[in-house]
Amino acid sequence: MSRRPVLLILLAVLACALLVTPAAALAGKRPPTADLVLKGGVVYTVDPVNTVAQAVAVKGGKVIFIGTDQAVTAYQGPGTRVVNLNGSMLLPGFSDAHAHAGMTVSQLYSVQLYGMPSIDAYLAAVADFAATHADLAWIRGEGWSNTLAPGIGPLASDLDTAVAVRPVALNSEDYHSLWCNSKALLLAGITGQTPDPTGGVIERLSDTVGMPGSPYGVPSGTLRESATQMVTSLIPDYTVAQYKEGMLAYQQWIAGPYGITMVFDPMLKAGSNAVEAWEELASTGLLTLRVRGALALGPGDDATAKVQTFLAEKAKHTTQYFQTNAVKFFADGVIEGHTGYLKEPYADALEYAGDPGYRGEPLWQPKALNAAMAKVDKAGLQIHAHAIGDAATSETLDALAYAQKVNRTRGRRPGITHIQLVSTEDFARFAKLGVVAVPQPYWFLKDDYYTYLQLPYLGLPRADEEYPMKSFLDAGVHVASASDFPVTWPPDPLDGIQTGVMRWFPGWVWEYPPPPSLDGVLWPEERVTVEQMIRSFTIEGAYASFLEGQTGSIQIGKSADLIVVNRDLTTCAPDKIGTSKVVLTLFEGKTVFSTDGF
Ligand SMILES: [Zn+2]
Repeated sequence: MSRRPVLLILLAVLACALLVTPAAALAGKRPPTADLVLKGGVVYTVDPVNTVAQAVAVKGGKVIFIGTDQAVTAYQGPGTRVVNLNGSMLLPGFSDAHAHAGMTVSQLYSVQLYGMPSIDAYLAAVADFAATHADLAWIRGEGWSNTLAPGIGPLASDLDTAVAVRPVALNSEDYHSLWCNSKALLLAGITGQTPDPTGGVIERLSDTVGMPGSPYGVPSGTLRESATQMVTSLIPDYTVAQYKEGMLAYQQWIAGPYGITMVFDPMLKAGSNAVEAWEELASTGLLTLRVRGALALGPGDDATAKVQTFLAEKAKHTTQYFQTNAVKFFADGVIEGHTGYLKEPYADALEYAGDPGYRGEPLWQPKALNAAMAKVDKAGLQIHAHAIGDAATSETLDALAYAQKVNRTRGRRPGITHIQLVSTEDFARFAKLGVVAVPQPYWFLKDDYYTYLQLPYLGLPRADEEYPMKSFLDAGVHVASASDFPVTWPPDPLDGIQTGVMRWFPGWVWEYPPPPSLDGVLWPEERVTVEQMIRSFTIEGAYASFLEGQTGSIQIGKSADLIVVNRDLTTCAPDKIGTSKVVLTLFEGKTVFSTDGF
């Protein structure tokens, strides 16, 4: 007989005792005095069995007790701050598994066009911004909508009427298109003699192809995908100080009020001012959330050299608060730019491309994608890929399978984000390959994009089978939800949870009046439960960044990254989830945001 089983049983009994009744396990000893006790609420722990309790005690920034209101009193001492939850819901802090938090700087130093109703409104805003920012050499901006300028996009000649002397470059709200004035095109050397770059489109005025001196057609003013870099590469970057100002604004005005304590910033550049800014905030103790970043790798890059650069960058960021462990790939573009890569042709292929078989193009050739992902994987870096079309998703899965096979790696947790169209057979492949799905539940509805871009470009039934969610969960896939801020505004996880449950959002603000026949519900079969949505915005986000041992659920020993929501989301009507609000956000047990007397 061996001693080992006895020891194991003893350990198991001890572990159970600690887990279930820590107070009892410490019988005979006074429980430690907590710094903070939260009681009288619905404590929704998001532990593996979704345990619900009444009270939590926190000491040294960590959770030390979860249980009843009565039992928690043993942890209260004269110095303990006691918060009465009055029936509110206590949750782990939210995760946003794909949000460009570092780009908040652009909200401070560029013109914001989000939600404006017309091209004229954009032009007025740009003229006004330019007039009040005489010191800026470039006028940049973001947030114009492709829905207001379908086809070749908005025109340089229009933008010239607002600002002609200084260059102007305006990102579309999805960041896949850039609207430029003539001065910006001139500085970039983009003319009718410039061919489209690989992976990009220079939109042209109709009927100008082959005109004298303009073999490729006169540029209209809108650039798509990689063509945008011909202009953006000329614009001076924001300074480290400006980035820090933006990041602190994100913390104060977005993360705190929306209860976000973890964010994955998916599009950073190695050695950039943005990375430096995150690091300075992290190492000086100014971050009140955990940030994980991905460094971008494109098809034109030397992958071997880049991997060395990424490893050197990763080694510089060693705090809990900021690390760059991942590499961002783009498999394709977006449906609204006709750059999403589809298995079947676009519904308007003939009209758009003059080719009835047009189905978009991958940004990487499959062999190159396989090789690059294998290199990144072998170096121990995580892969985070953008894939919108069903063909892009399949080819990304192919490349991840290839990388796992040649490297014999396990447990890497790559992520694929956006996943607008997914072939039925691919859900099981996500699960088998351990790929985390990173959807934006905020987009699970029939909105302007659906009506004016997706329906005409994709046709039925494809447009009605966008943005799966339940299929992933049913297949056993890890799903970490995200906003893609600033693409989504506001990036309020409660809105995302509600939309995931309803596949519709009451009170949606339309830029156009909705067609009378539209009920707004997108693919109701893909509705999931509020419990599943909460997990996708908490523990699964932590899992996606290897943080589930530290945060993402309320469990003893984990960081007290906690939020209070003013309604019990598991019992309120689904259409009340989005109008609920975060009233208290704690990071490592310290108050980051509070309202309504909390
Ligand atoms: Zn993004």
